[in-house]
Amino acid sequence: MGILSNKISRDEVRPGDHIYSWRTTYTYAHHGIYVDDGQVIEFTHTPTAWTSLSKSSSSTKLPCRICRGRSKSGGVTSSCLDCFLGGGNLYRYEYNVSGAALLFKVRGGTCTLAASDPPEDVLYRANFLLRENGFGVYHVLENNCETFAIYCKTGLVSCKKNWLGSSGQATAFAAAVAVIALPGPGFCAYNVARLINDVGMPWRRKSGNDVIKVPVEELVATRKPA
Ligand SMILES: [Zn+2]
Repeated sequence: MGILSNKISRDEVRPGDHIYSWRTTYTYAHHGIYVDDGQVIEFTHTPTAWTSLSKSSSSTKLPCRICRGRSKSGGVTSSCLDCFLGGGNLYRYEYNVSGAALLFKVRGGTCTLAASDPPEDVLYRANFLLRENGFGVYHVLENNCETFAIYCKTGLVSCKKNWLGSSGQATAFAAAVAVIALPGPGFCAYNVARLINDVGMPWRRKSGNDVIKVPVEELVATRKPA
């Protein structure tokens, strides 16, 4: 792993790591928590009737022999590392980086200023959420696979309504839209937006602001359907 890339080999991945893999020509990344023995816990969108139908009619691929394609059910699920990567490379998300390091990584959704809790805390949250399938409803910007992995690593959630949550990808996407609207100085604005909206930014943790630390039992109780 270096300054330019978070890419790692399979030998380097450790239990409790937040890992990700790029999809569809680097347009977005899929995130999860590496558990052990090649298992990953992840948060995925629930397939709609239409996507299930189109998948079953267009694909004759058999389910994976290791995890049996468990992640296809949606919500908090587990899969094997091969299914998680989907043929892509393995990357490790970085925590506790400096503001300069965050800005140096031009792509959003690869690192954060926030510090990670110890691996045992991370694995406890991930396994609890898996058992209860309790991370709520998937939302591409506000409650996605990156939000899930950041929560497992830090216990931090964004509680502000209509906010971009803790996802670096979502913040970068919103900032990029602003750049398209305002080219030139927009690139500078893009990076400033990524930095000030990072989940680890102290102003987001201060009383009255939106990021708070929530025990996993409490989170599940508030997100489970009544
Ligand atoms: Zn599999």
